Amino acid sequence: MAGSGLPRAIRHEKKRQRLGGRVTCEVCGAHGVERSRTQVLCPECRRMAQGLSPFEWHHPAGRKNDEFAVRIPANDHAALSDAQNDWPTGSMTNPVKNGPPRIAMLWRGHRDMVLHFDDLDEINRDFGSLLEDMDNYVSEFLGEDWWGKFLEMRSQKRKV
Ligand SMILES: [Zn+2]
Repeated sequence: MAGSGLPRAIRHEKKRQRLGGRVTCEVCGAHGVERSRTQVLCPECRRMAQGLSPFEWHHPAGRKNDEFAVRIPANDHAALSDAQNDWPTGSMTNPVKNGPPRIAMLWRGHRDMVLHFDDLDEINRDFGSLLEDMDNYVSEFLGEDWWGKFLEMRSQKRKV
C-alpha cells in the first residue's frame, strides 16, 4: 500500500504512538510491528497465529502498476511496502498504465529490494524473467527491433 504522503519519520512516529510506544513483536522481537486484536505482533507472527504462511506476495512496482510479484517473508513485505510510500504518487498509481512510469516503479522496487535484502539471487532471477516477459510483450506490438528504435529516439532527443 502506498501514498500516505507523510514523510517516513512522521509515518513511523505516528505508528509507534498508535502501538503505545511498542516497536518490537511480542513473540519474536522483530521490528516493524502492528496491532492484532490482543497483541502487538510482526506481520509474520500475526500470519502464523492465523494459521497462514509467513510469506506474502510483494509487488515491486506496486500492485496498481504491475501484477508482477515475488514471494517474500511478510516482515520484508511490510518494510518494502512502507518504502513505497516514499515514491512519487503519480507514477505509483499510473492510472493510464503507461510503460515508462511502470518501468520507473519496477526500477525503484528493485532498488529498494537491493537495499533491503542481503541475498538477492532468487529475486534477481524473477526480475530477469520479468524483463524477458516485458520484451516479448512489447515486441508483439512494436516488433522485435523495438529497443533499437527506442534508443534511436532517445539519441535524437538528446541532440536537440
Ligand atoms: Zn514476530
